Amino acid sequence: MEDIKAYTYKWYEFGCKDATYLTTKEKYTHLSISEKGLLKFHLLTCSGCRKFVKQIKLIEELLKKEPDFKGLTLAKEKKDAINQLLTKN
Ligand SMILES: [Zn+2]
Repeated sequence: MEDIKAYTYKWYEFGCKDATYLTTKEKYTHLSISEKGLLKFHLLTCSGCRKFVKQIKLIEELLKKEPDFKGLTLAKEKKDAINQLLTKN
């Protein structure tokens, strides 16, 4: 993963790639006020990125519930359950 860096975004250049980057960055560190604003605005206007955020949250919730999760692999039935949930949304 590339270094977590503070971008200076221009609102008219901010796209889905930036939104997914900031969504991921938010999981590991905090976002600046301008990053939060740009991400929030993008999510208001982009259903694809809203879906991405929803899927990331779902995966996190499922991984927290998995007592045997060791950070490396999931059992096939767990992967199938995640796939089923993701395809429903
Ligand atoms: Zn987007």
